Amino acid sequence: MSDFSRLTRRKFLVSATTTAAGAVLLKGCTQPSAPDAATQSPAPSPVAAGDTPEVTKATLGYLPIVESAPLIIAKEKGFFAKYGMTDVTVVKQANWAGARDNVVIGSGGGGIDGGQWQMPMPHLITEGIITNGNKVPMSVLLQLNTNGNAIAIASLHEGKGLGLKINDPEYIKQFQAKNGRLFKAAYTFPNANQDFWIRYWFAASGVDPDKDIELLAVPPAETVQGMRNGTMDAFSTGDPWPYRIVTDKIGFLSALTTEMWPYHPEEYFALRTDWIEANPKATKALLKGIMEAQQWCDDAANRDELVKIVSGRSFFNSPAEVLTPPYKGNYAMGDGKSALNDLKFGPLYWKDPNGDSISYPFKSHDLWFLTETLRWGFHKTVITDLDVAQKLIDKVNREDIWREAATEAGFTADIPASTSRGVETFFDGVKFDPENPQRYLDDLKIKAA
Ligand code: CA
Repeated sequence: MSDFSRLTRRKFLVSATTTAAGAVLLKGCTQPSAPDAATQSPAPSPVAAGDTPEVTKATLGYLPIVESAPLIIAKEKGFFAKYGMTDVTVVKQANWAGARDNVVIGSGGGGIDGGQWQMPMPHLITEGIITNGNKVPMSVLLQLNTNGNAIAIASLHEGKGLGLKINDPEYIKQFQAKNGRLFKAAYTFPNANQDFWIRYWFAASGVDPDKDIELLAVPPAETVQGMRNGTMDAFSTGDPWPYRIVTDKIGFLSALTTEMWPYHPEEYFALRTDWIEANPKATKALLKGIMEAQQWCDDAANRDELVKIVSGRSFFNSPAEVLTPPYKGNYAMGDGKSALNDLKFGPLYWKDPNGDSISYPFKSHDLWFLTETLRWGFHKTVITDLDVAQKLIDKVNREDIWREAATEAGFTADIPASTSRGVETFFDGVKFDPENPQRYLDDLKIKAA
């Protein structure tokens, strides 16, 4: 057992005995099945009389990738129900564009109230930027996870020094001159996490993702087929794809995102703001359920059961053998590189090994995503500068609701003191100081004009 899993386990046991979470968290694992259970009175509800949710129903979208596990676990292990949200449905979305379209419709029209998002999708939907001008205000409430993503490279490029750093950037820059086509890379949705990760990776080694390569949104299955038949070179993606690409001998992993930026922000939980305004208590009840699910997910003792639940046909519909290694932090990298094997490299949900909250939506992380948006010149007629970005963050990020929910649920020891996680350091030595994002922008060597 790694230090981290021991730490998490100990932490878990402490919190389980000091909060009302104990009874449900331990159900089915260590709680003895008492023969006199029928004579015991039921555990007191953690929902205080004044906290009864306005509604018991919410419709939440998710994609079948590890980021969504807290939503699925909150539903399946009864954490939503525990806080009075007895009729939550988690609905698989065909892709990110589908999730976006469904939140614009809302649950009243057969869509969703919110759910899982890449960043900064909630900000872009709020401003109507990716919804044909249709502004649907959304609120970011919680970060779902860190890690669990990687840059995968087609087998064709084995032995060319494409690691965390690209040894020979000319290999990529001269690819067209030698092969008659540009080096081609894909992500699943533009101008969000996976696009940012692969852009950062190329640019850190001197490859301009807007000039030296072809970079575009392609569905995962099509990308993997392209990697197999030699028409796609790189894929910025999340588990279980990275593991499958290596074990199916389609390619190798140049970098895990956690190697690029330890415990980086990954995906988020956000809801339509009108739903939150109509249902403030239900919003906090959902958050409490997800927070407990995140703690449950990070207990190493629950990982086998976690895999069993999410791999099921109604969720990821993916063999448990494919999900187990990433969930143990076990990554075959390919291309002659040593495997990585520690829980800290896999998907994490509640608290990172540095002791920082994963669940809390740091405004400093929203600022990185919008600073990167400025770096690459995305949506520049709307997100024109850092002042506009900061105002948008203050409108969309509702970390105050996270704090209230965590306080009410008794997770007070894990509430961060600040809205900033502080200075972030990337694998190439670049630092992002949330107090001075302009300096980060000014110092970057590769960026849009
Ligand atoms: Ca992701």
